[in-house]
Amino acid sequence: MSNNSLLSATFACDCGKTHSVPTAHFLYDEHSFDRLAELVQEYGSGGACLIIADTRTYEVAGKDVEDMLCRHNLKTDCFIVPDVNGESPVANDATKDMLLQQASPTDLYLAVGSGVINDLVKWVAYLRKKPYITIPTAASMNGYGSANVAATIDGLKVLFHAEAPKAVVVKPEIIISAPDELTASGLGDVLAKPVSSADWKLNQFLFGEYYCQYSVDLLKELEPVYLNNPEKIKNKDPEGFRALFEALFYSSIAMTITGTSSPASGGEHLISHTLDILAGRDGLQHDLHGLQVGVGSILTAALYERIMSIATPLFRQVPSSVNQDFWGTLTPIVTKEYTQKLPKLDRTVEMLSQHGMWNKLKETLQPMLCPAEKLKNCLRKAGAAHLYRDIRYNKEPLTKSMFLEAITNANQMRARFTVLDLAWLMGIIPDELDMLVEKWTSS
Ligand SMILES: [Zn+2]
Ligand SMILES: [Zn+2]
Repeated sequence: MSNNSLLSATFACDCGKTHSVPTAHFLYDEHSFDRLAELVQEYGSGGACLIIADTRTYEVAGKDVEDMLCRHNLKTDCFIVPDVNGESPVANDATKDMLLQQASPTDLYLAVGSGVINDLVKWVAYLRKKPYITIPTAASMNGYGSANVAATIDGLKVLFHAEAPKAVVVKPEIIISAPDELTASGLGDVLAKPVSSADWKLNQFLFGEYYCQYSVDLLKELEPVYLNNPEKIKNKDPEGFRALFEALFYSSIAMTITGTSSPASGGEHLISHTLDILAGRDGLQHDLHGLQVGVGSILTAALYERIMSIATPLFRQVPSSVNQDFWGTLTPIVTKEYTQKLPKLDRTVEMLSQHGMWNKLKETLQPMLCPAEKLKNCLRKAGAAHLYRDIRYNKEPLTKSMFLEAITNANQMRARFTVLDLAWLMGIIPDELDMLVEKWTSS
C-alpha cells in the first residue's frame, strides 16, 4: 500500500493489529487552501468553524484562511491565542481553560500553527467532542497527524490520547518560509527514526514486546531525500521540504496506527525529555524539542555503534535506585518508572548471556542503524543544531557537564528500555561517555 492510500484506510497488518488511519486528507501543494471551503463544509456539517492561531501564525496563514472562508460565505470566527509576558503561548492547562472559556462555540476547529497551537486545538476539540483540521505553518515536529496531545498539566509534562485531525492542509510556501530553527527542529525530530526504531526492535527482541515493521517502513522512501541531501533543507529546496514534511506526517501516522510513540521515540527522546523536565522543575526555559532530539540522536547512534563493536559483552552492575542528587524533587516520579525497569535489566543480562544471543541481537539491529557520522553531517549541512552547545538551556548554551549528566541519568526517567540502558549494562555509560560526547558533539 502506498503512503497516500493509507489515508482513512483500515487494514489488517502483519504485526497482528488492524490499523486504522483516522485522517482522511493530507494535502501538500500550492493550491491546497482552495480545498479548504469544501473540507470545512464536509466536516463542519454546514455549521460554524473557528480558526485558532497565535499572533504570528495568524499573519502567515490564518488571515488568508479566514478571508478565503468568508469569501465562500462560511460562518467563520477566529481566536488568537495571546502571548504571555512577551513569549509565545504554551500548551498547558491554563491556556486550555482560557480557550474553553473565551473561544466561541463551534462545529469545527481549524488549527493554524505548529506544535503548541496543534496541541491546544487537539485538546479543546477533544473536550468539546468536535472535529478539527490542521493547517501547519512549519515543518517543526511530528505530531500533525497524531492523536496525542503533549501538554503541561500542574507543571508536569504529559502525553495523552485525544483524536487525530480529519485533514492536514499544507501550503508549501508557508512551510518553506517558516523560521529556519523550526525547520531544523523538525529535521532533528525525524532523524531520531533509526535509533528509535532500533530501540523498539530491541524491546521486541529482549522482552517479546509488540512491534510493527510496517510502521517502521513508512519513512523508507522519504528518508534518503533529506538524509543524503541535507543541503536541500538549507537551500529551501521544495523537494527536500516536501520529503521532510511527509516524513514528519507519516511518522505521526505511524504513532497513531500503532497506538504508541515507540516508532518515533527512543533513548534520544529521553535525553531531550530530561532537559525539559529539569527546566520545568527549576522554572527555566528549555530549547525546541526536535533540536534537542537531533543532538541526542547523534549521540545515541554513536552509543549503538560502540555497542555493535563489542565481540563479547561483559555486564556491569547498574544502580538499583535513581540518582536523587540529580532528580531532586522529581525523585518520586522518576523512581516509579525506574522501579518498573529494574527487572528488565536483569532479564537483559540473563538473555544476552545465553549462547549466540549477543550475535543474534547484533544481526537484528545492525541493518536498522544509521551511522552517527551520517546523522551529524545531515544536521550540520542543513544548518541545524548538532553540538551540545547548540542547545540552549535557559537561553544559554548547554554546558558539557549538564549534557553528560542528562545522558547519564536519562534512562531512569522512563520504564521503556533503550540503548541508554544497554550502554549502562556494558559500562559505556558512564565510563566512555565523556569521550563519545567529545568526539561526536563538541566540534
Ligand atoms: Zn502493523
Ligand atoms: Zn519527537
